[in-house]
Amino acid sequence: MTGTPDLEKPLRYLKGVGEKLSLLFAKKDILKVRDLLYYFPRTYEDRRKISTLDELQAGMTTSVVGRIRRSHPVFFSKSKRRAFEVVLEAPDSSNFLSAQTLSLTWFHSPYLKNKLEVGTLVMAMGEVQNFRGKFQMVHPDVELIGKTLTDEFKTPGILPVYSETEGLFQKTIRKIVTGAVKTFAAQVQETLPDPILEKYKWPKIGPALYSIHSPKPDSDFEALVENKTPAHQRLIFEEFFKLSVALAARRDQTIQKKGIEFKKPEHSWEQLKKNLPFKFTNAQKKVLHEILDDMTSSKPMQRLVQGDVGCGKTVVAAAAALIAMDSGYQVAMMAPTELLIDQHFKNFEKWFAGMSIRCVKLTGSLPAAEKKKILKEMASESPLMVFGTHALFEKDVEFQKLGLVIIDEQHRFGVRQRADLVEKGSKISPPDLLVMTATPIPRTLALTVYGDLDISVIDELPPGRKPIVTKVFIDKQRTTLEKSILEQLKLDRQAYIVFPLIEESEKLPLKSIEVMMPQIEKAYSEFKVALLHGKMKYEDRQKILDDFKANKIQVLVSTTVVEVGVDIPNATVMVIENAERFGLSQLHQLRGRVGRGAEQSFCFLMASHMGTPEIVQRLRTMEKTQDGFKLAEVDLEMRGPGEFLGTRQSGMPAFELARLPRDLHLLQLAREEAANWGRQLKTSSSPGVSVTAHEIAP
Ligand code: ADP
Ligand code: MG
Repeated sequence: MTGTPDLEKPLRYLKGVGEKLSLLFAKKDILKVRDLLYYFPRTYEDRRKISTLDELQAGMTTSVVGRIRRSHPVFFSKSKRRAFEVVLEAPDSSNFLSAQTLSLTWFHSPYLKNKLEVGTLVMAMGEVQNFRGKFQMVHPDVELIGKTLTDEFKTPGILPVYSETEGLFQKTIRKIVTGAVKTFAAQVQETLPDPILEKYKWPKIGPALYSIHSPKPDSDFEALVENKTPAHQRLIFEEFFKLSVALAARRDQTIQKKGIEFKKPEHSWEQLKKNLPFKFTNAQKKVLHEILDDMTSSKPMQRLVQGDVGCGKTVVAAAAALIAMDSGYQVAMMAPTELLIDQHFKNFEKWFAGMSIRCVKLTGSLPAAEKKKILKEMASESPLMVFGTHALFEKDVEFQKLGLVIIDEQHRFGVRQRADLVEKGSKISPPDLLVMTATPIPRTLALTVYGDLDISVIDELPPGRKPIVTKVFIDKQRTTLEKSILEQLKLDRQAYIVFPLIEESEKLPLKSIEVMMPQIEKAYSEFKVALLHGKMKYEDRQKILDDFKANKIQVLVSTTVVEVGVDIPNATVMVIENAERFGLSQLHQLRGRVGRGAEQSFCFLMASHMGTPEIVQRLRTMEKTQDGFKLAEVDLEMRGPGEFLGTRQSGMPAFELARLPRDLHLLQLAREEAANWGRQLKTSSSPGVSVTAHEIAP
């Protein structure tokens, strides 16, 4: 092992860590000495005040250390209850008659029963009660100390609390980690520039790690628990800083290349405006200008367009596509479902009418011969508008002159896929990139995941939209619900009924669509009801959707395939079954399928069990707010970022200490500082900043 830096050595290298223990640590992904230093306490325990037996008073909740004088089962004859009792005396008591004792009582066997031997020292935590003139604690937490008092009890302080695994206990983790920190923290290389540490008065990495694992007794306990100490703050900052530097690097890589300078379209622009049945909103105009500026400049556009459901992102994408095609380039537009591809295709064909622009679709369900024909076109023809699903990534897909890549519903794709599609353009002049998210990602998160993109926001809905009346129902109100739906159907409107899944395959007792179908058909027997789900053949799905659009079907029962993008203005009712199973953002996305015309729309959330207060609170939030960004924030708060990121596939590195939105201010700081320092760090080959752009996009 000579030559290997200590930090990179396996745990076995440490005194006191054998095969068995190192395997237990490995279960927590702790393999090297370095990993131990970065295994941060889950919380802290305040042991600064350990009472002595003499200090006890009835009513106080405290920790007390004592030696076991007696340990035995007891029987209370009056109440006929059996219990287990341990009587503690002062640790140094040699006198049997020593003044104060404390009795610990359990009305079931304490799990440590066999270890609670006479003479053993224990710490008991709980509320002191006066029972027949004696002090007792009922069901206290106890910690075995042993026969002699260890340091942590002699000089009580603040103890780190780590998350345990089976067979690996608090005391062991504490001993091994704090031991390693004492010996090796000084060897960890500083990764933050000195001026940053000075500016924010943060400790260097070694002392920071030390004080996180072994806080001084006079530390601010609250701050420790909330990860607000300077040591915590610098480590959280560091996590964001590494990410920000890497994102900035990736962005630089693209921007350094010269992009395509598109011309501003004149004639076709006017034609587009003529073809549209509406005028652009001011927000759309503003974003279009940002896009036009990007596209006519020589730097490749890297832009994200955010906007609430229904704000009209598609037509903005169409205008961008037009800019590229007017200059003789090809455009690729990727969306997550074939339904959406089809809808975009039809819209664009209408909007581009009279402009001699060819639109084609490249999807997985395309017959081989058709596909070959389209690939041939893509290899030769420009301008050309290509719509596609994942099929666009395939190896044999080549563009002759790709000028713009549009990705709709970015949250459904990973960062890697975004890069893959851009790769299909020319290496010399990379295509411009326009990314659209419909699930409004909270700004906090957007900065993290899309830190390498410029962000435009369409913060206005087209005129005349009414807020969607939203109401939560529970199972026994189903008749009322059905009545409300019928009312709408009789006004010649249409309804979606969405279920979270199609088969009763999951363990949870959910009504699957199949079970509910007969009941739904009966309830709306005067109307045509149809079923739509992802496992149906593509043509069948398309037929049903076309029929729904043409109002030949009034009630569309479906899985979440309608979640993204589907646009059918005459549908005014969205019923979501088992609504408690969806995140708010997804509910909002589903709700966004209605409220697209001038009529009043409704969203009915059917909760199959209004169980926990959390569920109720969540669904009520839907009743109160129509703002997708706000709902996304609530989701982030309540369910964490997984909801938006789909964890791994989003390419987000895991944060050890950082939590959003709690640490938003540090994320912002890190972004600012990374902009100042990023370039210098790269050129000075700082050993610390080790996250590369590649690591972020696995
Ligand atoms: P999203 O932003 O959710 O993708 P869409 O692009 O599907 O929304 O637009 C929602 C609906 O609003 C579509 O029917 C679209 O034609 C319409 N729309 C878009 N822009 C305007 C506008 N400026 N005025 C009126 N309707 C518009
Ligand atoms: Mg859309």
